[in-house]
Amino acid sequence: MQKYSDRVNRLSFSQTFVMSNKVREMKARGIDVISLTLGEPDFDVPHNIKEAAFEAINNNFSHYSPVPGFLDLREAICGKLKRDNSLEYLPSQICVSNGAKQAILNVLAAVINDGDEVILPAPFWVSYDEMVKMMGGTSVFIETSIETDFKMTAEQFENAITPKTKVLLYSSPCNPSGSFYTHEELEQIANVVAKYPQITIISDEIYEYINYDGKHTSIAEFPQVYEQTAVINGMSKAFAMTGWRIGYSACPEWLAKGCEKIQGQMTSGANTMAQKASVTALKTDPAEYRYMIDEFRKRRDLVYGLMKEIPGFRVNYPEAAFYFFPDISFYIGKTLNGTIINDADDFAMFLLDHAHVGAVGGVSFGNPNCIRFSYAASEKDLKEAMRRIRECLEKY
Ligand code: PMP
Ligand code: GLU
Repeated sequence: MQKYSDRVNRLSFSQTFVMSNKVREMKARGIDVISLTLGEPDFDVPHNIKEAAFEAINNNFSHYSPVPGFLDLREAICGKLKRDNSLEYLPSQICVSNGAKQAILNVLAAVINDGDEVILPAPFWVSYDEMVKMMGGTSVFIETSIETDFKMTAEQFENAITPKTKVLLYSSPCNPSGSFYTHEELEQIANVVAKYPQITIISDEIYEYINYDGKHTSIAEFPQVYEQTAVINGMSKAFAMTGWRIGYSACPEWLAKGCEKIQGQMTSGANTMAQKASVTALKTDPAEYRYMIDEFRKRRDLVYGLMKEIPGFRVNYPEAAFYFFPDISFYIGKTLNGTIINDADDFAMFLLDHAHVGAVGGVSFGNPNCIRFSYAASEKDLKEAMRRIRECLEKY
């Protein structure tokens, strides 16, 4: 009889897509649900980026590109890394992939052997642990909480290192917490990594531009770990291009070659029209696209004010990305309308069924006490969602 491989059996479906699909099904049944599930900008792709894609089609960029991406795109990525992050990379160090998701997977595939350990500060983005499992590795979690702004210390990190540790993987700014590591915090973490030459840092910086209150630092800026770092970034969040599927890694040369080898056997590379459009996006002054970030900031402030008033919610103040990750442990162990709430996932289901607001429970983000709301939605929907949740919970 045919059956799944152990690899598939080890994996879970991506909880972000599970919850967004549930919302879609409810909407199809005529139920008025507000979705704050998927983290994707609700803006259209900026006009000049679309024009560049049309031009690429008209100019017949319809054949395979080099596996790691067109040279002009890799040069534009190097230009961006220099302009925004003061980082020096050569095009031979860049691998363009089908989204940052594949860029991370390539690096993991290039460095992980069965049983190797990957350190994941929790909360982490849902796909990290699953990707580690896919590659045969083992995740080692570092717990944080709302009290420490969901950030680990360099000391916690060093205590988690074993001879099997191969990778430190985190996002800063962080999905789901909306926190980001400061220059000083990253320097302390870099100093630890530099003592362990077998460790690769995968620094996921996809929310770099969506940072309202601070200055973004890439850990690769610290020379002591430049050779140990894979910087991950992409077009999805900064340019509202989630469906165009372009992301990239910037690595030491040997690692970039490893990513190219994996990618050449797996996908042959990324979509050519989207690559050409990405050149335009990266060469445009980021100030041109600032309107999206200004809008996200307004929504952050709006939701913060409203969410604080919801009974039983302890709300963090996210400085970056477009998520809230409130602690709802007040409800854990309670029975709400006949439903026992064992963890944040049960609570998310309760809100979906009773308040008709979709969110993602924190279990798959590594924190069963918190729930994630994406505020990449209209002000009208955000206000209504907060009103529904508050009204629904006021009874308990
Ligand atoms: N990293 C993080 C932290 C994310 O939130 C996302 C969201 N999709 C990704 C990577 C992947 O982005 P994409 O594959 O769309 O570039
Ligand atoms: N990164 C987004 C999220 O966290 C998109 C969904 C996904 O790729 O998992 O919701």
